[in-house]
Amino acid sequence: MKLHFTEEPSLSQWWNGRWQLEHAVTTLEEVAALLGVEVSLFDSCRKAAEKYPLFVTPYYLSLAQSAELADPILRQCIPSDAEITCQVGGNPDALAEDAYSPVSRLVHRYTDRALFVTGNFCAMHCRHCMRKRDWCKALPPPTDAELDAVVGYLKDHSEVREVLVSGGDPLMLPEKDLLRIIKALSSVDTVEILRFGSRVPCVAPQVVTPRLAAVLTSGKPAWLATHFNHPAELTKEVSAACDYFVRGGVTLVNQSVLLKGVNDNAEILGKLFTSLLKYHIKPYYLFHGDPIEGAMHFRTGVDAGLKIMNELRGKISGLALPAYAFDLPDGNGKIRLQPEQILRFDENGAPVFRAWNGKEVAYPN
Ligand SMILES: *Cc1c(COP(=O)(O)O)cnc(C)c1O
Ligand code: SF4
Repeated sequence: MKLHFTEEPSLSQWWNGRWQLEHAVTTLEEVAALLGVEVSLFDSCRKAAEKYPLFVTPYYLSLAQSAELADPILRQCIPSDAEITCQVGGNPDALAEDAYSPVSRLVHRYTDRALFVTGNFCAMHCRHCMRKRDWCKALPPPTDAELDAVVGYLKDHSEVREVLVSGGDPLMLPEKDLLRIIKALSSVDTVEILRFGSRVPCVAPQVVTPRLAAVLTSGKPAWLATHFNHPAELTKEVSAACDYFVRGGVTLVNQSVLLKGVNDNAEILGKLFTSLLKYHIKPYYLFHGDPIEGAMHFRTGVDAGLKIMNELRGKISGLALPAYAFDLPDGNGKIRLQPEQILRFDENGAPVFRAWNGKEVAYPN
């Protein structure tokens, strides 16, 4: 939608990451003014906005296709009454990240990879966020002492080959802090790759510059996991950001979350996954929504996700197809789900499959 600015930004302001963040929208009044609607439209959102504050760039808001609360873009950034009213079974820390933290800032759940928490500032407050419990507790960038402790732990645990650099959003860190973190992690010989996780390319792509790409590749080989959930999020601004990364030598994958009322059908997700390939991004995971307090209203049943994966199987490029996965409770790790493909075994004991075209085909033993 075209936004109604009191002072229209120039092109160079619009394409400037700092301008986008400095003009981030934090009140429902601003949202209403920019969308050109009555603020009473958002009356039901006020309580949720107090508990989980609103934060969205003008850029992301402009991706809305309509000023209705059901719009897939607005659903991801505008507080909803459901965040505080329908949260039965939700847990603030469903993945037990706090319990798997051997030293401050590090979550070591699997053997060969560990997750490093850089801070908790993001370029948007995504309403479905699994870390929304921490939005209001400021976590500054790591101190040198914290980094030393993490490096010490990684040196003692040479089985860790990969560090996921997460947040908040690591790309929101001041450049000097990001450089310091990359240098420290890369100083551990046994750490072979760094995997950054960021929503910046989606919600504030203007922040990405050739210089930022060079920072990310200043240490061990860099992978970046983006977070796109809807085809309306793919724009010329995103294209420029991805070009900077790809030319700079950063490999891109995407993690989507299956979100009710945003992307819970095969047509939308098929379009998202195939379009991502044009931006040099390989769809990696489609996450089933975690049972997070404040985000329960976004969850579908697992059967809905399996049905979508089954519809997409064979119809879109294998490159475009992510793994459908969720996290087991209590920090027991990820499970990849597959639609059932073996229908039965025939009289010779050979498995009979449902092929992508619907035919039943036996695979001879
Ligand atoms: C998801 C996750 C990983 C990475 O898992 P992959 O399957 O390799 O993507 C690593 N550590 C933690 C704590 C995680 O939650
Ligand atoms: S960018 Fe990621 S961590 Fe930050 S609010 Fe969005 S989903 Fe949560």
